[in-house]
Parts: sequence; C-alpha cells; structure tokens
Amino acid sequence: MSKVKYHYDSETQSYRKIERRKGRRTGIVLLSILGSFLAGFILLVIYLNIPQIETPKEKALKRELQNMELQYGLLNKKMSQIQNVLANIEDRDNNIYRVYFEANPIPEEQRLAGFGGINRYKDLEGFDNSKLIIETSKRMDILTKQLVVQSKSLDEIANLAKEKESLLSAVPAIQPVKNEDLSRIASGYGWRTDPFTKVRKFHHGMDFSAPRGTPVYATGNGRIKRADNRSTGYGNHIRIDHDYGYTSLYAHLYKYNVRVGQRVQRGDIIGYVGSTGRSQGPHLHYEIFKDDRRINPINFYYGNLSPEEFDKVLEKAQQENQSLD
Ligand SMILES: [Zn+2]
Repeated sequence: MSKVKYHYDSETQSYRKIERRKGRRTGIVLLSILGSFLAGFILLVIYLNIPQIETPKEKALKRELQNMELQYGLLNKKMSQIQNVLANIEDRDNNIYRVYFEANPIPEEQRLAGFGGINRYKDLEGFDNSKLIIETSKRMDILTKQLVVQSKSLDEIANLAKEKESLLSAVPAIQPVKNEDLSRIASGYGWRTDPFTKVRKFHHGMDFSAPRGTPVYATGNGRIKRADNRSTGYGNHIRIDHDYGYTSLYAHLYKYNVRVGQRVQRGDIIGYVGSTGRSQGPHLHYEIFKDDRRINPINFYYGNLSPEEFDKVLEKAQQENQSLD
C-alpha cells in the first residue's frame, strides 16, 4: 500500500493531498529490476571466472577420481608383469612339455584371442575415462582367457603323462627269470637247430635255462589272458595281455599260480620253471607279441640291464646254437 502524503497550505490553512506522478513510479520499478539483473549478471560472471572455488564435496570427488586413475595405472603395471610370467609359462608349455608328450603346440593366435561378436564394453562407453577403463577390462579379459587355455593345456599334459606312465609300466621290460650273472640265456630268437629233429627251424622266443621251480616273473603290468596246457608244445604256459598291443608268453612251466582275468604287476611271481610240453630240459621259453606278431624279446630287457650287460646278453642270444624249445 503506497503511503498518501499531504502538505500544509498556509493560504487555505488546510492539508492538501500530494499527487504522485505515475511516470516517476514506473521508472523506479524498472530501474530496480534492471539493477537486480545487473547484480545477478555480475555475480554469474564472477562465478564462471573463478572455477577454483570448489565445494568440499567437489574437492573430495576430484581426489577420489585422481586416486582411481592412479590405481588403474598400478593395476595395468601388475597386469603387464602377470602377462610376462604367463608368456614364459606358455613358452615352456609349447616348447618343452607339449613337445615331450608329442602334443601339437597351441598357436599364438589361439592363446591371445579376444572376444569377437558383440561389443562387451558398451556399458563402459561415454565417460571421461572410458578409454582407460575399457583398455584395462580388455587386457584383463584376454589374460583370463590365456589362463584358461594354459590350464586346459596342463590338464592335457597331465593326462598324457599318466598315459605315458601306464604305457611304460605295461610294456614288457625285464627278464622273466632272475639272471644276475647273465648265464641263463641258453638260446635266442632266430634260426636255431631243433633239439628233437636236429633241423634248422625258426625259434620265436628266448630260452632261459634254470632249475625246476625257479620263480618266473611278469615282465610288465597286465591281465592274465591264458594259463593252461592246451597249446601244442608249450606245456603249462601263461600269456599276459599288457595292452598297447603287447602280449608276453611263458612256456614249459612246472606250475603256475595265476588264473585267467587276474591283473598282475611287473615283477609279480606268476609261475615256476619246468620242462612240460615239447622241452629238452628245465628252462623257460619266453616270447613277446606286438599286434599278434612275435618279435625278438632281446629289445625288452632295458628295465634292469646296463649297456654293458645288454651287450653280453646280445652276444649270448645271437649264438646260433641248439634251442631248448
Ligand atoms: Zn624256446
């Protein structure tokens, strides 16, 4: 409400209302609006020109951001170190382990492959530090994949090693009777004189002369395939199936103490030397089959012979004498 002002007129001796001019009042209003605008503008200019004036909250956020960038940097450095160690393991894996167990090396592209198809990092786009975060995430993903590939490769190697171990323990590799002074080899594999007919005949095994009752050992791990006397000439004999295509045969036994289907380990006593079947005196006739073909057992004693001893065995076995059959 605007105040009404009066002034005293001495001529009429009365108060008169003072009429205010309308134009002046409008001017004052306009001027004050303009003043407010001006003041606001000046304040805005000041505010925009002094950005270093930050609230405590802004300061804290900024510090947090700087710390995060620093941590990302450290993380990237650590990832580089891990990558180096992993590269070294991969190198050994490809050039030593996989070579040793005859597995193909894993190609570099397969080990370092990223993730194709959809953009996995879309959610990380559109921020000030998107590039840093996306790069780091990508490196981490590739590293993870490399580790998975490497871990699978080691599983494969472990299986191959197991397989190799089982192959090595299955293959016949020792002499079937104790032969420390190597004097028991009576006749080898090859053309020999038949002790009964005195004609040259191919001798398919090796003869170890030994007193009746001398223990006979399984020469590798396997399963008893036969233990009987129903095979012409062999008398009481045992056949062991060693898997991987190998079979060993022990003939003219005095007796045997295994049955068909039984599993045996290298070195187990399976029977005793005798002279049953077509035999010229107590001895063990020993044969090795590979894929159903008889091969020379001379190459299968590496389990307990030094190179010098092997030479001696070789010399004895090669003499073209009369076999004991
Ligand atoms: Zn023989």
